[in-house]
Amino acid sequence: MESIQIDSKVVILGDSGVGKTSIALRFTQNEFFVYQLPTIGAQCMDRIIKVGDNMINFSIWDTAGQERFRSLAPMYYRNAVAAIIVYDITQMNTFEIAKNWINEILENGNPNVILALVGNKLDLEQQRNVKIKIAEDYSREQGIIFLETSAKTGDHIDDLFIEIAKKIPITP
Ligand code: GDP
Ligand code: MG
Repeated sequence: MESIQIDSKVVILGDSGVGKTSIALRFTQNEFFVYQLPTIGAQCMDRIIKVGDNMINFSIWDTAGQERFRSLAPMYYRNAVAAIIVYDITQMNTFEIAKNWINEILENGNPNVILALVGNKLDLEQQRNVKIKIAEDYSREQGIIFLETSAKTGDHIDDLFIEIAKKIPITP
């Protein structure tokens, strides 16, 4: 069977400082910076991965978490195949903000959008404030993907995109 290439736009949303840019950079370039510059507006990074027989060409739209970006956000999530909503496991308020993003996308986004909730900074386990069970239970209720990652160590970053890839509809 011939393998087909599927172009998939993915948007990353969440509060400032949770590690959205770091996740995108770890996945696409295998890099990590302790001093990551804040994102202005949005930027796109690409990587192709092979999942089963297919090549998934991810275009990852990394967005700015600032409040003033919120009005622009629909432009990025409306035609995305998947949305990754990131919080920081050491900051409870970022989990609340992540849930707000999920509600917004469920209300206004494409009804087939693949949603993934991501608790980042798993390497900071000692400073954890968001219990894994709370996020797991919430994600199960919503029927969405849930993972904890570390952009710093690279833990579960590829797994996140593989989980998303598995849910992408294949239409040859
Ligand atoms: P963004 O505003 O959501 O794009 O967040 P950034 O990617 O700019 O990251 C904000 C800060 O958190 C930077 O100092 C990163 O180095 C740091 N950071 C990002 N991911 C991780 C992680 O997994 N672990 C740790 N310890 N720090 C991280
Ligand atoms: Mg950023």
